[in-house]
Amino acid sequence: MNIHREGNIYKVESASKKGRFYTVDVAQRTCDCPAFRFRYQKRGLLCKHLEAAIDYDEEFGHERYQKVIDLVRKEGPINTVTILEMFDEDTVNELIQKGELIEERGKLRILD
Ligand SMILES: [Zn+2]
Repeated sequence: MNIHREGNIYKVESASKKGRFYTVDVAQRTCDCPAFRFRYQKRGLLCKHLEAAIDYDEEFGHERYQKVIDLVRKEGPINTVTILEMFDEDTVNELIQKGELIEERGKLRILD
């Protein structure tokens, strides 16, 4: 299944219509495919696009987070600008929101 991340949302390709991509928001648990909007959402079920995006997010989200954390742990407090040049802003912001990293005076460090 073709899937890619655009900021905080995912584009997941339809299995039956090649080239047709649905917009999936993992945090909000929504998809704009007809099956989800007209059937699954009311029953609290996930469509296959949402399932695929959640799996992808868990697999690659952890990988991206771990790279940032490993670097900060190795280097100690590191300039936020340096990190943002190496990784995407969403990843760094998500880590701060999750309480894994803390930013102080323009530097990031591990929150122990
Ligand atoms: Zn869907």
